[in-house]
Amino acid sequence: MGMKIIIIGSGVAGLTAGYRLCKSNEIIIFEKDAEIGGMAASYCQECAGKRYFIEKYYHHIFRSDSELLDLIRELGLEDQMLWLKGKNAYFVEGKSYPMNTPIEILRFDPLSFTDLVKLGMLVLRIKLIRDTTSYDNIKAKDWILETAGKSVYENFFAPLLKSKFGDNAENVSAAWLIGRVKIRSDRGKDGEKLGYLRGGFNSLIEALAREITAQGGKILQNKAVEEIVIKDNAVQGVVSDGEFIPCDAVISTVEPRVLDILTKGKLGALHETLRSIHYQGTACALIGLKKRLMEDGNYWLNIKADVPFGAVIEHTNFMPFEDYGEHLLYVTSYFQNENDTLWVKKEEEVLDTYLKGLERMFPDFERTDINWAKIFRRMDTAPVYEQGYLQKVLPFAPGPSGLYLAGMFSSTNYPERSMNGSVKAGLEAANFFMKKDKKCEVCWLD
Ligand SMILES: Cc1cc2nc3c(=O)[nH]c(=O)nc-3n(C[C@H](O)[C@H](O)[C@H](O)COP(=O)(O)OP(=O)(O)OC[C@H]3O[C@@H](n4cnc5c(N)ncnc54)[C@H](O)[C@@H]3O)c2cc1C
Repeated sequence: MGMKIIIIGSGVAGLTAGYRLCKSNEIIIFEKDAEIGGMAASYCQECAGKRYFIEKYYHHIFRSDSELLDLIRELGLEDQMLWLKGKNAYFVEGKSYPMNTPIEILRFDPLSFTDLVKLGMLVLRIKLIRDTTSYDNIKAKDWILETAGKSVYENFFAPLLKSKFGDNAENVSAAWLIGRVKIRSDRGKDGEKLGYLRGGFNSLIEALAREITAQGGKILQNKAVEEIVIKDNAVQGVVSDGEFIPCDAVISTVEPRVLDILTKGKLGALHETLRSIHYQGTACALIGLKKRLMEDGNYWLNIKADVPFGAVIEHTNFMPFEDYGEHLLYVTSYFQNENDTLWVKKEEEVLDTYLKGLERMFPDFERTDINWAKIFRRMDTAPVYEQGYLQKVLPFAPGPSGLYLAGMFSSTNYPERSMNGSVKAGLEAANFFMKKDKKCEVCWLD
């Protein structure tokens, strides 16, 4: 066996790195949560005697997610891959506007014909941008105001930015916006197809974990790392539950502020950057329903209305209802800090405010339609891609020998984080490890 590598975090990045390195090295993954999978973890639910897995937070993938799709193939999960239409709509002032095709977008009443032309021109312009680097220092708001005008900003983009970044909406960079629009505008005349793994992305997480443990690797759940011990600019090991565990290398996938705490200021110049990367939280209700909520078949509904959430996502308007035996709905909002009511209030109170919002938006919705409901929320769900963020993207090898970083903060997840970005980050950190480590280069087989 090669080297002893400790991976902190069992999300997509940590598991992918572990999978790549486990054939030739001893892998131990520490996960602070009870379940593995991080942001892509699933909830196991039973309906009419049948067990199924559903992501705690809504997930789908795009055709451009090449590394993730390669990994799915490599793990033998290709047969589970489905490409399906997910209908989108925008709820404005009590009305739901389909937004799937250029013709439908032209019928979006809240924008005048002139504004729609400006919006179309903006999308065309975005499609022609190859490199977003020079847009990182420009605020999305300023750029939209300058290129498409006030009405397009206020009636189209502002509510979307608000629902995605809350109080930080006005600080988000044009680079993020361009990256996002590029992905979502590639729809063809019949609308885009999104990818999903039948059985849920839990199959991916479980398959990676299986491969790692089959090679003798260990995945320790409910086991947080408290310190990464660095001495003489070299990793010595980690501390968990007060115990020192020596190792040759550490791959950390945790949020930058947590990494700063774990490394106890030993990352020198990076300390300030780690402190300055702001993550936002998500409060997501997952609800099992007896009845379909959005009869018009919408999968994804963005919202401009006085409700405490930014989107309603009906999973079973995307995946077949028969796979679950009940209708599945996400109601979700991002929040910016731990003082937000979505974080401070009890789960049942958050759920109640969400349900009240649903009742306002959908007069036919009744609480007796609910089979079960859960609130999933955590603080570390996405970096906020503020103006100037590019300078904060963390390196895969930050300095001390034996320390590698991979996760939502990596360049592969800029300017928008995704499972694909974290697969790439995990692979990249593994490559850095193998390249820097002569002993391991020899034993690398793939
Ligand atoms: C609401 C929501 C919707 C999303 N939708 C999509 C989508 O549709 N498509 C898509 O591709 N992506 C989507 N994503 C993004 C995707 O889930 C993430 O980009 C990806 O899963 C991140 O993986 P990661 O391994 O980099 O980080 P994480 O999943 O955050 O993994 C880090 C892990 O480290 C653990 N950890 C933290 N501190 C410690 C410690 N001290 N000790 C031990 N363990 C620790 C955490 O518990 C976590 O499990 C979504 C994410 C969210 C939140």
